[in-house]
Amino acid sequence: MNKLHTLILAGLICATSLLAQQNANNIQLELEQKAQRKNILIPDIDGYQTLKGDFHIHTVFSDGLVWPTVRVKECWMEGLDVMAITDHLEYRPHKNFMTEGHNHPYNLAVSEAQKHNIIFVKAAEITRSMPPGHLNALFINDADSLNQKNVDDVFESVKEQKALMLWNHPGWKAQQRDTCLVYEVHEKLIKEGLVQGMEVMNYTEWYPVVLQWCIDYKLAVFANSDIHGISGYTYDVQKGHRPMTLLFAKDRSSDGVREAIESARTIAWFDQQLAGPEDLIKELFDASVNLKSAFYTDDKYRYMELSNESDIKFSFINETTSNGAPEKFELQPRKTIVIRVNKDAESFKVKVDNCHTGMFKNLQLNLM
Ligand SMILES: [Zn+2]
Ligand SMILES: [Zn+2]
Repeated sequence: MNKLHTLILAGLICATSLLAQQNANNIQLELEQKAQRKNILIPDIDGYQTLKGDFHIHTVFSDGLVWPTVRVKECWMEGLDVMAITDHLEYRPHKNFMTEGHNHPYNLAVSEAQKHNIIFVKAAEITRSMPPGHLNALFINDADSLNQKNVDDVFESVKEQKALMLWNHPGWKAQQRDTCLVYEVHEKLIKEGLVQGMEVMNYTEWYPVVLQWCIDYKLAVFANSDIHGISGYTYDVQKGHRPMTLLFAKDRSSDGVREAIESARTIAWFDQQLAGPEDLIKELFDASVNLKSAFYTDDKYRYMELSNESDIKFSFINETTSNGAPEKFELQPRKTIVIRVNKDAESFKVKVDNCHTGMFKNLQLNLM
């Protein structure tokens, strides 16, 4: 090898190692978790699509800790179809950092919701002492015009905007410590059609008496998160789910959602408790659970198969104890169980312990 060849070779080695150094200064690692939506299995019922909603969500634009677009991503990942950001109109602890009005959280997040096929309901939380307490105004056009001193003017603006309201957390101890009442103002708002629903479940609370009010007034039941912190820190979103309002809608649209609320076609669902009108709960049970009549029998028993095609767990209490079936049994999400019943049993009445159809009332069925 002559001198020139040696020089060229040395140059090449130098260039290659320089290139290698440059390539070694930034190697992309696959650390970022890919965004995936959790599919929650809740069947449709006859003639209606089942949608999952959360109509009570806070962001940094009131006392929440999360940016509006992140809220959309959380809802999408947790399997929701409908959401409403409901920042307090009257309580804005971060207001010194804000220059925009009350429509800003909606405006920031609406395109993110559209990209994720989430029905995004424009909303705000009216935040007053009791009565009337806290009410979420849904399907509003302008949140700023709801920000008025006199609460009657706020209700007038809700009416003008053709919006509707739900009464939030009526059983919240901070506002109804020793009793839980419907006040005159609520009666009036219900009569005028301005209040169309109430939260029977909020955050981690559930209010059986409010379920009874909803049944009596024929109002929509809601289960909402009222979430302030990060969702994954608040609920075990891998194993469980946030409180959800199940809506039975004619179609998957904002109008469909509104019509379902106005027709009180909703069920509240949280922590495997369902609360709502008896006919809807029965329809949802029938759509979720396949009951096969006895296939095998032997000298003493016949065997019944219950198959669950939903993510709802059902807990049964046997009310015909003489039939040989267990006193209590559970049907886990997406599982099948076999129950043994006396061969000559004529009745198999059960109470579905987690299906609430009134204050002290549960779904009752005869499985035979
Ligand atoms: Zn509230
Ligand atoms: Zn709230």
